[in-house]
Amino acid sequence: MTATPAWPPRSAPRLFVETPLAEGASLRIEGNQAHYLVNVMRLAEGAAVKLFDDVSGEYLARVTARGKRDLTLTVESLLRPREAVPDFWLCAAPIKKARFDFLAEKACELGVARFVPVLTDRAVVDKVKDDRLRGTMIEAAEQCERTALPEIAPLTKLDSLLKGWEPGRHLFFADERLHDSGGLSLAQALATHGGPAAVLIGPEGGFTDAENAAIRAHPAAVPVSLGPRILRAETAAIAATAVWMAAQGDWAA
Ligand code: SAH
Repeated sequence: MTATPAWPPRSAPRLFVETPLAEGASLRIEGNQAHYLVNVMRLAEGAAVKLFDDVSGEYLARVTARGKRDLTLTVESLLRPREAVPDFWLCAAPIKKARFDFLAEKACELGVARFVPVLTDRAVVDKVKDDRLRGTMIEAAEQCERTALPEIAPLTKLDSLLKGWEPGRHLFFADERLHDSGGLSLAQALATHGGPAAVLIGPEGGFTDAENAAIRAHPAAVPVSLGPRILRAETAAIAATAVWMAAQGDWAA
């Protein structure tokens, strides 16, 4: 008795679409996505494609018409609702482009709900290309079977971030100087600080004394150490996110 093949096949391509999806909807796909489906995946009419919209979930769609540079997909059925994402924000000073892209990709994979680039005095980069970060995250989400994307906040000055901080959200301030002065590690702090959270990571050159003082003066700030070794900014951001996800996110079964 041969097992009936799984449908849609695991090999079915998976694409993020900006337009909200619903059963029965027809989408005209053009540009790079059409090139990928028509010329790379060489999909024929009737072929299956998985679509997700970061709003309602992931759907099974089929190719119902094919052109040279475009094709039509008709949405058939909901496969999975949009996943719930832990209420965790990653606030990080922009670092060199390739590394910041890498960090954006890891933040998406790790289930960060909101990615906030924070402009600090020593940030070597003073502008961030949102569409590039979003493209990086979309690619990660397509490959990692995600149905939700992090929201990307506009580049925000540190003082504005602090002034407009959302009440009730802990701001875990990763302070690399803390370890020597016997400060709390992030894991220790999480034992007594539950609920909506954010981690704040500085640039390659760290925070200035004035910034350090301003952050510590904020009522939501919880200065934490990420251990005895100085980590590169992207390593600190990824490590801190992992520690939070394990302690308070959705890693525990
Ligand atoms: N100014 C530091 C390096 C900064 S590392 C130096 O040159 O010595 C970049 C950021 O990563 C820091 O601002 C901090 O937010 C975080 N970070 C790195 N290692 C850390 C640690 N051991 N504990 C807490 N935060 C750390």
